[in-house]
Amino acid sequence: MTSTVFFGIAELVTNDELLDGADHSQHLGRLNDAAVVVQDGLIAWVGPAAQAPPADDRQDVGGRAVIPGFVDSHSHLVFAGDRSAEFAARMTGVPYDGGGIAASVNATRAASDEELRALVGARVAEMRAQGTTTVEIKSGYGLSVADEARSLRIAAEFTSETTFLGAHVVPPEFADRRPEYVELVTGEMLAACAPHARWIDVFCEPHSAHAFSEDEARVVLSAGRDAGLALRVHGNQLGHGPGVRLAVELGAASVDHCTFLSETDVEQLAAASDTTVATLLPGVEFSTRSPYPNARRLLDAGVRIALASDCNPGTCYSSSMPFVLALAVREMGLTPAEALLAATVGSAKSLRRNDIGAIRPGNPADLTVLDAPSYLHLSYRAGVPIARALASGGCERLGTGIHRPPDR
Ligand SMILES: [Zn+2]
Repeated sequence: MTSTVFFGIAELVTNDELLDGADHSQHLGRLNDAAVVVQDGLIAWVGPAAQAPPADDRQDVGGRAVIPGFVDSHSHLVFAGDRSAEFAARMTGVPYDGGGIAASVNATRAASDEELRALVGARVAEMRAQGTTTVEIKSGYGLSVADEARSLRIAAEFTSETTFLGAHVVPPEFADRRPEYVELVTGEMLAACAPHARWIDVFCEPHSAHAFSEDEARVVLSAGRDAGLALRVHGNQLGHGPGVRLAVELGAASVDHCTFLSETDVEQLAAASDTTVATLLPGVEFSTRSPYPNARRLLDAGVRIALASDCNPGTCYSSSMPFVLALAVREMGLTPAEALLAATVGSAKSLRRNDIGAIRPGNPADLTVLDAPSYLHLSYRAGVPIARALASGGCERLGTGIHRPPDR
C-alpha cells in the first residue's frame, strides 16, 4: 500500500455535496488551499491542506486547480481513416445526412486489428491529455458480425463502458433489405457482440435515410435489453422525432444529441430525470454548423443533462472535453459550474455510475489538474490546453508550479 498526498491545490472542485467545510453554492463542493490523499488508486482523504494526514509521498500541485476527471459518455473511437474532405464540403454548404458513415465503415473493415488498436489507443491518450478519465466507446463502423464484434473487443481493452451500435446506419449492401439488416443486428450480430458490451445504442433518426425508424429502433433496443444490455439512444439530432419518446418509454439511461426538442420531449425528460439523462454533444453542432440545443431550457425544466464529445470521424473529430465545455457556456446558456457538473457527475449518471465524476473518499483517483488557479479557466481560456488527467495512483510529477499565485 502506497499513499500520496497532493497539496498546494489552489482550488479543488470535488462535486461532493456532503464535504464538510466546502463551498456548496453551485453544487461543486469547492475548497481552497486543499489536499487530496490517494492510496492504491483510490481517493483516501479530501480536505484543507493544513489538516492533511501523513502519506508515503508528497506532491506539490503548485497552486493549480484540481477537478474530477471528465467523463466522456459518448464517443465512437473505433474507426480507421478520416472524413476531412466531407467536413470541408459541409463548411461550403453540403448538409449532413448520415451518409458519410459508409466511408468510415469501408476504412474500418479494411484495417487490421493492430491498426485499429493503435488508433483507439492514440485517441484515448489524446483524451487523457485533455483531462478525460472515463470514456464510453461505441462500435458502429463495422456493421458486419465479425467487424462489430472485433470493434467491441478492441474497445473493451480500453474501457468497461462499451456500447454495441450495430444499428448505427444500414450498410450499403443492405440498402434494399432493411428488415434483413435489423434481423441480423438483433440476432447473430447481437449474440456475437453482447459478451463484449455493457450497452446497446441505436441511431433513431427519421430525417436520415440511413438511420432507423422508431419501430426499428424499438425492436433493436428491446432485443438488446433481452440480451442483458442497458440502453442508450441517438435521438433528435437532425430534426424533431421519436428518439426522446422512445428512450423514456424504454427507460434508457441516456438519449444523446437532443438538438431538436418539442415541449412534450422536454416535459417527458423532466419527468424521467431519475432514469434518463439528456446528453448534449455541442461539438457536433459546431462541426455540422447546426443550431445548438438550449441547455438552459432543459436545466430550468428539471431535465438532467450530460455533456460529451461524440468524438467520431464524421460529425465531430474532436476529443476535447474542455472545448465541449466552452461551447456549452458560450452557445448553450450554461454557467461554467453547470457545464463542469454536466461533464462529470451528469455524464457519470448517464452511465449509471456513482463512483466517478466526484472526488470523494472511496472513488477511483480520477483527478484532472488545470494549469490555472480555478475551474473557471476551462471556458475562459478556450482552446488553450490547460487540462490533463493525472496518472491514476498519483505517480506523475507535476513540474515546476509556475501557476502558484505570487501573493500566496
Ligand atoms: Zn454518436
